[in-house]
Amino acid sequence: MPEGDSLFRFANKLRPVLEGEVIEAARSHGPGPVPRVQLIVGKRCTGVRSQGKNLIISFENGLALRGHLRMYGTWHVYAKGEPWRKPEREARLVLEVAEAVVVNFSAPVIELIEERALAAHQPIAGLGPDLIDDDFDAAEAFARLRAPSRAALTIGDAIMDQRAIAGVGNIWKHETLFHCGINPWRTVGSLDDETLRALIAKARELLRASVGKPGPDDVVPRRPTMWVYARPGQPCRRCFTRLRMNRQGVDIRYTTWCPKCQPIVEGQPMPPEGPRRR
Ligand SMILES: [Zn+2]
Repeated sequence: MPEGDSLFRFANKLRPVLEGEVIEAARSHGPGPVPRVQLIVGKRCTGVRSQGKNLIISFENGLALRGHLRMYGTWHVYAKGEPWRKPEREARLVLEVAEAVVVNFSAPVIELIEERALAAHQPIAGLGPDLIDDDFDAAEAFARLRAPSRAALTIGDAIMDQRAIAGVGNIWKHETLFHCGINPWRTVGSLDDETLRALIAKARELLRASVGKPGPDDVVPRRPTMWVYARPGQPCRRCFTRLRMNRQGVDIRYTTWCPKCQPIVEGQPMPPEGPRRR
C-alpha cells in the first residue's frame, strides 16, 4: 500500500515532468466521480507535492488535482508514444504535456478542487503533521496521538490514523512498532509519554530514510530492511523467534510481530485468536 514515503517519491517523479509545463490534453475515467479535467487543459502546472498520502498537482488558474491511492493506485510517467506497463482501462487520469504523459492507475480518489479550498477540505484539513516534512511538528503529533479519544485504540491502529500523524501505512506501522519493541495490541493509553515520543521519532526516521532524507544525526541512512512486515511464520531477524500474525483493526489488516521482541504486557488487550502461520 502506498504510504507517505511512496507519495513523496511519486511527487518527486512527477514534479520535473509537470512543473512549468502546459497541459495539452487531459482525460479521466471512472469508476467513481470523474473530475472536469477540461478545466486544466491549456493551463500551466505550477507545482506537485505530497501531503501525507495525498498527491496534489496545482495549476495556474487556481485549481488543483488531488489524488489518493489507497491500496492499489499508482502514478506512471511515460514518454510520448511509449507503451504503458498497465492496461489503459485501469487509467483513472491521463495528463499530457509536450514531452511526456502522466498516468494515474486505479486511484479511488481523483478530484479537482480550488487550491484555496484545500486547507479547508476535509481529507487534507484533518491531516496530522506530515512525518516526512522538514518542519515536522513533533509536539503537535504527540498531542494528537495523546488525545483522550485515542487512548483506547490499539497502537497498531492509532499509528496509521492520518488525523494524528500523516504518512504511516501498514509497512511502516509494522517496522516502527518492531524497532520500538511495542506489541501492536497495546493501547495508546498504556504507553508512557517517553515511549510515545520515541515511537513518533522512529516512524519519522524510517519514513525519511526511505526517501533519502537525513535522519536525527543529519546522516542519510540506507533504505531500511524489513524486519517484520510481510514475514509471518519466518524467524525474527533479531532473536530468531517465529513471527506471529493476526488480524487487526477497523480495516482488518494483518499484523505481524515478534512475540519476544514485542512482548505482551500485563493488562493489554490480547491479539485475537486466529491464523498463526505454521
Ligand atoms: Zn524477535
